Amino acid sequence: MDIPFCTNCSGSQILQRVDGVFALTKVEKKEGGGVNFFPASGLPVVAFLCPQCGEIKLLPAKLFNEI
Ligand SMILES: [Zn+2]
Repeated sequence: MDIPFCTNCSGSQILQRVDGVFALTKVEKKEGGGVNFFPASGLPVVAFLCPQCGEIKLLPAKLFNEI
């Protein structure tokens, strides 16, 4: 996997990897409003941060063979 660049800045700013693996938790809509969270189910992701503008980019952890 190539190092991602920030799409918000000049396009040449390299994003910095945030240590660790994170997850986007699965949610489902409740009847009558709100959501139910299912923390045991979700998408493992790797996070990259732009040191210039603060944009965060999330990519599936499986692309980096981390999960
Ligand atoms: Zn940026």
